[in-house]
Amino acid sequence: MWKDNARCAVGLSFDFDAESLWMGVYKQDYPAVLARGEYGARAGLPRILKILKRQEVKATFFVPGYTAEKYPLLIRQIDNDGHEIAHHGYKHENPIKYSLEEEREIIEKGIDILKAITGYAPVGYRLPSGVHTPHTLNLLLEYGFKYESSMVADDLPYMLKIDDSGKQILEIPFSWELDDAPHFMFSHKPYRTGMSSPSKVYEIWSAEFEVCYQEGGYYGLTCHPQVIGRRHRAQMLEKLIAYIKSFPDVWIGRHMDIATHILETKSLD
Ligand code: ZN
Repeated sequence: MWKDNARCAVGLSFDFDAESLWMGVYKQDYPAVLARGEYGARAGLPRILKILKRQEVKATFFVPGYTAEKYPLLIRQIDNDGHEIAHHGYKHENPIKYSLEEEREIIEKGIDILKAITGYAPVGYRLPSGVHTPHTLNLLLEYGFKYESSMVADDLPYMLKIDDSGKQILEIPFSWELDDAPHFMFSHKPYRTGMSSPSKVYEIWSAEFEVCYQEGGYYGLTCHPQVIGRRHRAQMLEKLIAYIKSFPDVWIGRHMDIATHILETKSLD
């Protein structure tokens, strides 16, 4: 199923939300709260890019348009390092109450902003809020997206049915277990303890990989520069990547490469 007959595939993804997470999801714009997002841009992201370079692996960064407008040089650096830039809404919004035209506007705006920096239209999309409207998946197909990455119905990529007409889009799943936020992210309102020990999370994340390797499956890690980018967590991330790389025949690919491979080889048909 995987490229070059690799035994399993690994997709490393980073949602570079910066301040937009706090504005869009938490509806807060206090400077001290927004500073948490800013940390992702100032400290977390550069630290992660260094780790990826040292480990010689490529990843996918899902970026809201607002974040790309605010930090164009960082987006250019991610792109120059060979990582994928993918769509993550504009201001981390929940589109559930939006009309078709309002949702279309956000998707187009995100494409235009990212394309102006990278030179290519994004081919991957991750819901900023975890909410699809009845239009979302159709809009993604209309704008030429190859894959979506917000759902959790399988360990392996699968075709996500859009409606009864037979239309579908490739889903590269994520999972809460392999997401840094539930383990590490502290918040006051709503109260979330976060602050797990990296050794506890390493135990979960490495065990997930070991079974994925045995099964010949797909391992999708989702992290946020403002969360995993803290020193002690970033150190654990690098240890995990090195551990994954110590196994033979593992394909660590950008989501766009995994999607292209699956669609071109018709692996899911
Ligand atoms: Zn996000």
